[in-house]
Amino acid sequence: MAPSADTIFALSSGRPPAAIAVIRISGPQAGHALQVLTSRIPEPRKAALVRIRDGEDIIDEALALWFPGPNSETGEDIAELQLHGGRAVIAAALGALGKISGLRPAEPGEFTRRAFENGKLDLTAVEALADLVIAETQAQRRQAFRQLKGALGDRAESWRQRLIGALALVEARIDFSDEGDVQESDSLLLPGALAIARELAREIEAALDDNRYGERLRDGLVVAILGPPNAGKSTLLNRIARREAAIVSPYAGTTRDVIEVHLDLGGYPVTLLDTAGIRESADPVEAEGVRRARARAAEADLVLWVVDAGERGAASPEMPSSGPPVWLVANKSDLVQGRNEQGFMDNESLSGNEQQFSNSESKFNSGETGGSVSAVSGAGVDQLMDRITRFAAQALDSAEPTLITRARHRRTLSEALEALQRATAAPAASREDLAAEELRLAARALGRLTGRVDVEDVLDVIFRDFCVGK
Ligand code: GDP
Repeated sequence: MAPSADTIFALSSGRPPAAIAVIRISGPQAGHALQVLTSRIPEPRKAALVRIRDGEDIIDEALALWFPGPNSETGEDIAELQLHGGRAVIAAALGALGKISGLRPAEPGEFTRRAFENGKLDLTAVEALADLVIAETQAQRRQAFRQLKGALGDRAESWRQRLIGALALVEARIDFSDEGDVQESDSLLLPGALAIARELAREIEAALDDNRYGERLRDGLVVAILGPPNAGKSTLLNRIARREAAIVSPYAGTTRDVIEVHLDLGGYPVTLLDTAGIRESADPVEAEGVRRARARAAEADLVLWVVDAGERGAASPEMPSSGPPVWLVANKSDLVQGRNEQGFMDNESLSGNEQQFSNSESKFNSGETGGSVSAVSGAGVDQLMDRITRFAAQALDSAEPTLITRARHRRTLSEALEALQRATAAPAASREDLAAEELRLAARALGRLTGRVDVEDVLDVIFRDFCVGK
């Protein structure tokens, strides 16, 4: 791709004021910009103490770094300034840069986009960089870093190379047959190509058969808190989040939207959803809340069905009967006599009534109960969290690091796999042309995965996740 004519600059560090601010400049005029601001260009990749000036005005004393292209992060000349992180300092430095002709402020993700366009990163690594920046837990960080270092990108490229090898064999045979001169040795070309295709199909199929560990780890496990109004769902969520995230109110139906709390449970990302009390309502706002609650809960990985343990029949008919596993959580244990000390409902300690109550829950498709808790006193909440943590570990812990971390990866790999399967299934007589076409489609899908072909339509979607200065 042609080098960009513009030189871009941006504040790459976090929101000021801060101890230090990092301003990056990338493009053909980066060296000139350093000259103008600091009157010198430091030795490549060595920090130099410089004064930054705007004409006669000394803006700050700072560290300057110089990374000449093409061996830089973007592949272009890069200058980096580490200034004091005050708002006025940053504003003055950005203002001085803006005065230099040929320089303009960077768009969100534009540094990374240039790195991609200059072949420094493939598309899976670009995505991984975005994931690394937003990773909230250690397991997410490790997965993003593996992906940044080419876990999927390198594999996909090696698959593509082997596919191109197979394609060359088929095309050689097509050429031969066009000359009406198929020789004994040529007849081995097609079986050779198809053997490669079959092996690739097996490997891609194995990569796809991963229980969606990678995507689930990236997105976080979703646990929806559902149940009738006033069961104490918001109180429970607040207790868990240890902050006032949901409105707690003694009046039914006040939590009208879906509230999310992000948790780090033993390194695994878990998103708790507090949903509007599920019940039919004439109030359109509340009805909308119920609709959203149902929709989110249907996609959740686990549902905590919270009921008021004091209310018989609280496990109402609205309880979901299909979809994710549902754990019954009997809340307000402080109001009910005869609980065991831990607040957990083991079968021995259940009174006759409660036994009946839990037996009537044939709908609990996981056969689990989340125990009994008191959102107000906190009894049983630690045990509940431990069980959710174990559930998360089971759902997110893969024996082997997975290659696929986004739906886009799964889509393109599935396309490649289907094309390979069609190539190897084509009837013998018409094989060459068909096989060649399918192998080409498969190679194209793999090329899309790493961003070698057909990138334009996905680029905007991917770079939307980036901030300015990245
Ligand atoms: P939601 O509609 O299910 O979200 O219920 P809320 O969290 O708004 O709680 C409804 C009412 O029950 C509030 O007055 C809470 O203080 C009360 N509550 C919630 N959990 C408990 C609990 O464990 N024990 C007692 N005694 N009251 C609770």
